[in-house]
Amino acid sequence: ETYQFAEQRYDTMLYRRTGRSGLMLPAISLGAWETFGGYRGEEIARACLYKAFDLGITHFDIANNYGRPPGNAERIVGKIVKDMPRDELIISSKAGYHMWEGPYGEWLSKKSLVASLDQSLKRLDLDYVDIFYAHRPDPHTPLEETMAALDLIVKQGKALYVGVSNFPGDHLEQAVQVTKQMGLTPITIHQPRYNLLERRCEHNLFDHTARNGIGVITFSPLAQGLLSNKYLGDTIPDDSRAAAWWGRKSNEDVVQGEKLDKIRRLNKIAKERGQTLAQMALAWNLRLPAVTSVLIGASKPEQIEENVDALKNLEFSEEELKAIDEIVPR
Ligand code: NDP
Repeated sequence: ETYQFAEQRYDTMLYRRTGRSGLMLPAISLGAWETFGGYRGEEIARACLYKAFDLGITHFDIANNYGRPPGNAERIVGKIVKDMPRDELIISSKAGYHMWEGPYGEWLSKKSLVASLDQSLKRLDLDYVDIFYAHRPDPHTPLEETMAALDLIVKQGKALYVGVSNFPGDHLEQAVQVTKQMGLTPITIHQPRYNLLERRCEHNLFDHTARNGIGVITFSPLAQGLLSNKYLGDTIPDDSRAAAWWGRKSNEDVVQGEKLDKIRRLNKIAKERGQTLAQMALAWNLRLPAVTSVLIGASKPEQIEENVDALKNLEFSEEELKAIDEIVPR
């Protein structure tokens, strides 16, 4: 029997424009790294993707190397989205980190990017991805070659939009200049790490994305689960990423001293706002108009429900922002 997706799935989700492009993304997107095809199998992945889509989350993020063995996340997510309406979904993949043996299995040469995306499309069993990313900067391949390869991939119809991930601001500027000078497909979106415990983007990235009309989707907005209440108790939850994937035994192995203190203080502010810490962490990312979407992970559908409820309170008072800045300085 086939699953009936919620009829009201577009009623409450907030959609934001990706920079100056035509692409609208849900304020909350869902990624597969580590969880789907990693420490969570197909059944949970399916439950999470279905729950997400029922709540209006139309964007799923993957990369060539996600899962164990690498590629497993694409296989599992590809199988699940076969049972979903393709034209209502934005699916992304990436290349750049190590994926296969030899000199072509990583970085951003034309050979690596083209071969990797062809592999990804096979694993996903899709004709195209919506966004294809250069996953990290390559210190040796000329940006001219990388950006031209991404442009070729779009012209071949294997991807609709081009993204970059983990590029510092000055490198992004150079990439933008190359696309302009060579008349190539522009960069639509940037995917950096950004959360309450890691605010570097405010110094070295957001000015550049905003100036160039590039959207931002922030990964690990919950610092992989640290920005929740799960590591504040006496013992580590068995089903947490720390226990299930990192092999940690105690809360002290996960968050120590100063960091724990910060998380506790942030948790207090969240409570005063009537939110969980996870919800406040997501709302805090989305306070910036420059951030198009927050890219969460989830190991169970209930987490997605909780996280989407963050959208019920995106407002921060000056006092709240100041109190947060005091705990986690800019
Ligand atoms: P998060 O910071 O959102 O961490 C996700 C984890 O946090 C979940 O697996 C879950 O862990 C826990 N969690 C989520 N919601 C809650 C909640 N409400 N309460 C308690 N715990 C919660 O993101 P990820 O680090 O997983 O990254 C998200 C996505 O970003 C990836 O899937 C990937 O697509 C992308 N990414 C991109 C990178 C890049 O280089 N471009 C690098 C890393 C990620 P638990 O299992 O413990 O329940």
